[in-house]
This record gives sequence, C-alpha cells and structure tokens, in this order.
Amino acid sequence: MANSSNFQAVKDRVFADLGLYEQVSGLYDGQWLAGEGRPRVPVYSPINGERLAEVALAGEEDYDRMVERAWVSFEEWSRVPAPKRGKVVRAIGDRLRAYVESLGLLVTLEVGKTPVEGRGEVQEMIDIADFAVGLSRQLYGMTIASERQSHRLYEQWHPHGVVGVITAFNFPCAVWSWNAFIAAVIGNVVVWKPSPDSALTAIATTNIVNDVLDEHGLPPLFFLAVDEAGEIGRRMSSDRRLPLLSFTGSVQTGREVAANVGERLGRSILELGGNNAAIVTPDADMEIALRGVAFGALATAAQRCTTTRRLILHDSLIDSFLPRLIDAYQNVRVGSPLEPGVLVGPLINRKAVDNYSNAIVRAESTGGQVLVGNSVLELPGAEGGNYVAPTLIEGLAPDSEIVCEETFAPILYVLRYSSLEEAFEIHNCVPQGLSSAIFSNNLREVEAFLSVVGSDCGLANVNTGTAGAEIGGAFGGEKETGGGRESGSDAWKAYARRQTVTVNYGAELPLAQGVTFDVR
Ligand code: NAD
Repeated sequence: MANSSNFQAVKDRVFADLGLYEQVSGLYDGQWLAGEGRPRVPVYSPINGERLAEVALAGEEDYDRMVERAWVSFEEWSRVPAPKRGKVVRAIGDRLRAYVESLGLLVTLEVGKTPVEGRGEVQEMIDIADFAVGLSRQLYGMTIASERQSHRLYEQWHPHGVVGVITAFNFPCAVWSWNAFIAAVIGNVVVWKPSPDSALTAIATTNIVNDVLDEHGLPPLFFLAVDEAGEIGRRMSSDRRLPLLSFTGSVQTGREVAANVGERLGRSILELGGNNAAIVTPDADMEIALRGVAFGALATAAQRCTTTRRLILHDSLIDSFLPRLIDAYQNVRVGSPLEPGVLVGPLINRKAVDNYSNAIVRAESTGGQVLVGNSVLELPGAEGGNYVAPTLIEGLAPDSEIVCEETFAPILYVLRYSSLEEAFEIHNCVPQGLSSAIFSNNLREVEAFLSVVGSDCGLANVNTGTAGAEIGGAFGGEKETGGGRESGSDAWKAYARRQTVTVNYGAELPLAQGVTFDVR
C-alpha cells in the first residue's frame, strides 16, 4: 500500500521539479498573487488523505482585474499572425515534454490516477499542442460563388477575445489544453477556473506555460483563478466580458452554467456527464470484449466521463461472459496508484465514496443484485484514502432511476437483451449521450449500431471500449451531455467567430435576389 515514506518522497520530488510549495497562490493574472489576506483551502491527496498544500483563493475583485488584463493581452496576441501563434504553442508543447514525469505524478498525487494515466494526461496536452500548431496554418475560410457580378463572397474566422474555461477534477490539465491551445492559435486569451480538487495541477500547468510566454517576450495568455465552491465559476457564467465559456463538469452544474450564459446570450461549449454503455453481442471476439469492457468500466476508478456504466449483454452470454467479468472484478488490484500492479486507484473524495454507497443502496432497494463488490475499503498503509470495491449489479430495469443517473464511481449495471433492436432501445433510453461501444464482428450488427437507429451518442466505438478517445476527433456528446465538441476535427470553429464577407469590386450596385431599389 501507499507507504508514507514513498508517498512523501514522490511528493518532495514532484514539488521540487514543479516549483510548488506547501502554500501556493491560486491566482495568476500575469503574476502570481500573494496569498496574504486571501482565504486558503487545503488540497488533500485521495491516496491517503494527506494534505498536499494550501491554496490561496481568488476573490471577485481579483477576478475582475484578471479579466481586464486578459483583454489587454488580447489586443497584442490577436494581432500576431496565426502561424506565429502556432510557433509559441509549439514551444509550450516542447516545454511540457520535459514535465511528463513530474506533472503526471502530480496528477497521481492529487486526483489518484495511476502514473501511466497521469503521464497520459500530460501526453494529451502535448498531442493537442501539436495539433494546434498544424491548425495554426489551416484556419481556412470558405470562398462562395456570389450570385452577383463582380462580387466576392467568403468567410473568415476571428478570435472571440477572452475565453473562459471551467474544468472538472477528473481531467485536471488535458481538458484545459484541448480548449486553451486551440483557442490560443486562433488568437484568443484564456481564463481558467479549475476544480478545487485539482488546483495544484492547474497551478503547476499555468506556471509551465506562462514561463514559455515570458521567454518569448509575450504578454500572459493563460490566466488562472482557483475558487472553493464555484464562486468564480458562477461569476464567469454571467460575465459578459467572456463571449465564450467552455464548461466541463456534471449535468447538474452544467444546467446552471448554461442558464446563466444563455441569459446573457453568450456562447457556451458544454461537456457534461455521460452514462455510457457497451453492447456485447454473441458475434464479439470475447477476449477483446472482456478487456474493452474492463478497461472502460474500471480505468481511472470509473471517474472518466466516458466510463462504461452499463453493460448490455446478450442473453446467450450470461453464463460465459459474465463469470469472466466477475472474475476480473474480483482480481483487479485496488489501492494506492503509487504501488506497482494497481489498476484502480481511489475516488476523489469522501463525498464520492458516499455517492457510491448510496447508489448501491438505491439499486438494491429497486431490485438490483450485487454480483461482486459493494464495499468501502480501508487499506493498510493508505488509511485516509477513498477506496471502494468495483461493483457489478444485475437485475435492474434499464430505465430505472439509478441506472439513468451517472454515479461517478466504479459501478457497472449489467442489462440483458435478446434482439439487437432491444439492445439499441436499452442503450438510448438514458438522458445522457456521450460515448458508446459495440463489440461484434458481425457487419450487420456493427453498421446498424452506427446507423441512425443505433447509438445516439457523440462517440460511437466498434470493438474498442467507451473510454480513451484520441485528440484527433471532435470530442463531446448529445442530449444532456450538452452537445459541445472540443479537441480535434473542426471543433476549433467554436473558438472563433465566423464573419461572412461580401466585396463588390464592380462599378454597379446589384442587389441580391434581383431586388431593385433605384433612388435616382
Ligand atoms: P462538477 O460539476 O462538480 O464541477 C465542475 C466544475 O464546475 C468545477 O470546476 C467546479 O468548481 C465548477 N463549479 C461548481 N459549481 C459551479 C457553478 N455554480 N457555476 C460554475 N462552475 C461551477 O464536476 P466534477 O465532479 O468536477 O467532475 C465530474 C463530472 O464532470 C462528471 O459528471 C463527468 O462526466 C463530467 N465530465 C465531463 C467531461 C466531458 O467531456 N463530457 C469530461 C470530464 C468530466
């Protein structure tokens, strides 16, 4: 288990490499604000409950000043040619390469991901930086055939200005970079409000990227304000100075954010909760299906928005596939992510543990049978940690209340089906629509899943699980997941305002649709 000297040694190494201290500032507005006179919050490690540091919080006045400064930076940054902005993002990506290990381990200490997943989080930032560099030379606008003689009609894309980014704890830096690097090559400046549960990762990341800007003689472009309970987040939602707000978090919080942004007729990108399912058919490769479902349901202790929360299993597989999955659940190693061989780390905090326990009570009270799991674990050497046993539950109606909710904990509901139509009906009956998967080698089943009567989600995977998206595709989901798209493909367009331009280079003034208006 997390023996405390190992934990302390890792912490010391990581803090030294990243320039973190026991007391850190949670507000960067071009410089790190002194903590004096500002409230502080402790950040605890979910691995063993140890206090990692204390963060000084940003107040409303700090925030206001920060947004003003961000607009000043925008004046300068938006005038830099896009390919040159790309070069700066390339330098940031290069700098991040030097911090894969230490920043990745900070993610482990602060949110409990395994080190390989922590490194993956930083790798994702590097990947999106590479993508953004390429994009900086490809911000294409379309030329359209004009119906009028001697007229040119085309589209161009301008930055919005200062873009707000609010992130969830579970992707403490990667999701910010999806937004920030794409927004930056377009010419925007970014104000980030991270989750207080992952404030240290946000602080360390902000430090690294702004150092690069300093070295290039550029103004600050990546601002940061840590709050405690969404105070700054609320302020950002209603702040007319942020034409675009990108929000990642739960459906519940997203609903409030969307209402506040909508009230001021601002734009939002909403990346909200999922309730993702994997369908396993009799024509699946069972080895691939087993690994795909296990990874999807268990990785990151089921704290991914794309975690597999529902397994839709054909009746004929109940006696073959299910016992193997139960076996995997019984044998997967739960514990401190700093220990070798551990695949399932802790939940983020005690509230998440309570949510796990309450969900199981509710499931059992409505007819669910626990096949494996259902216990809060006290692990020797990691006593203050938030560990739970991965749980499989069978016997619930697919549309029962608890199955339709996203419980951010390792609980997988097993739902049976007999026909493919029934599998799709079960699949689509939840309010969320983020990720989906089918395991099948049957072309007809696969294509039906990908057709309009199949998955209703933003992401549809075949013979690979619901979790683990690449940055090249546009990421996001439908229905209560909010409809936002981030990361690759043409998701960049959300960070730009489209301008349709008409130029008359002729000697006449012809009007569209043949309208005449002769004032002579
Ligand atoms: P959360 O909704 O509790 O918090 C998200 C962010 O909102 C945090 O920064 C929080 O401080 C802030 N916040 C809280 N109250 C606010 C308010 N009133 N106004 C504005 N901001 C406020 O979510 P969480 O527990 O940090 O993260 C888990 C959730 O995020 C899950 O539902 C998960 O599915 C979702 N998520 C979605 C995606 C996606 O891309 N779709 C990615 C990661 C996480």
